Amino acid sequence: MTKTAETVLEINLNALQHNFEYIKSKLKANTKTLAVVKAYGYGTDACVIAKHLEKLNVDYFAVAYVDEGVALRKAGVKTPILVLHPQIVHFKLLIKHCLEPNIFSERVLKAFIDLMESENQKQYPIHLKFNTGLNRLGFKVEDVDTISGYLHNTTTVKVASIFSHLVASEDLNEREFSENQINLFNKIIDTFKSKLNNQPIFHMANTSGIINYPNAHFDMVRIGISLYGFANDQKYTEQLRNVASLKSIISQIHIINKGESVGYNRGYTADRDIMTATVPIGHADGIHRSFGKGKGYVTINGSKAPIVGNVCMDMIMVDVTNINCEEGDEVVVFNNQQTIIDLASAIDTIPYEILTAISQRVKRIVK
Ligand SMILES: *Cc1c(COP(=O)(O)O)cnc(C)c1O
Repeated sequence: MTKTAETVLEINLNALQHNFEYIKSKLKANTKTLAVVKAYGYGTDACVIAKHLEKLNVDYFAVAYVDEGVALRKAGVKTPILVLHPQIVHFKLLIKHCLEPNIFSERVLKAFIDLMESENQKQYPIHLKFNTGLNRLGFKVEDVDTISGYLHNTTTVKVASIFSHLVASEDLNEREFSENQINLFNKIIDTFKSKLNNQPIFHMANTSGIINYPNAHFDMVRIGISLYGFANDQKYTEQLRNVASLKSIISQIHIINKGESVGYNRGYTADRDIMTATVPIGHADGIHRSFGKGKGYVTINGSKAPIVGNVCMDMIMVDVTNINCEEGDEVVVFNNQQTIIDLASAIDTIPYEILTAISQRVKRIVK
């Protein structure tokens, strides 16, 4: 593989395909798949990811906000797209691009139906979200009658799906809580079935729900982080492949004499003579400032080079005292799952945040 000459995020579509197929191998043959490509496809490139998954016959996509769905449509994505957290102010734009809203409260339901009436829409697909314990977004089981009332009085919308979200699907200490959520969702399904003319899709499981709760697969599963190589569980992460690799280059090497400092606010003072490499990637690119002062590292010619001093907006300086390297050499921030997991735990976060932090300034390259 040719070495990079600038800061890039490489996206490996073979790995994506492997991960999608691995997750599908955990499903019954008729379970539908929804690929979650919110937040630029977990920091990769939502359009590239979606176009590839569309070729693999994924049934649905989900994004968080309307703009994210519009970007997919503009890239030519034809598959249905569920918008998980649309804002009422964007409903017109949503319809224009055939995006399908999550409707999670009476206020949002009423606003959407009112707009549909004024636009003379018929049977526009909507998705009803139920809160079974996350207490974030969603109707309560007691709201079923109210919702049915609205639906019986209009032909503008049809319920394409009904869904809920698990609170702690990755945490087996919370198994009882999760099972209670699943039971509650089953109850919601039962109360709804008699009240709708069509048969909506029922769905509940995210990545860890797919792995840990086969009884939560229902008609469709929502595959997020596992598409990108993580399963919140070592055993399953090993079965997945890394999709995103973040690489850069050494811009300049400095000899730092004992007593000299490096970087803003003299975040590091040399207690011996060292050698540093300056790398063109900083907190504006997604290298969180808390990686400074040795908490984060990069890999150069196979050796770990810890970050020296504070992370700058556009650069980091790393310790290459014991590394055989020169200006222009490739720098790997991460190119495997374990490094991403290690970096995440070094600053008390999760791989989701490491990936989604990679800013749009970093050039994406598809491999
Ligand atoms: C983000 C999200 C998912 C995907 O979860 P993963 O843990 O990444 O698989 C699924 N459903 C909803 C509602 C989400 O917000």
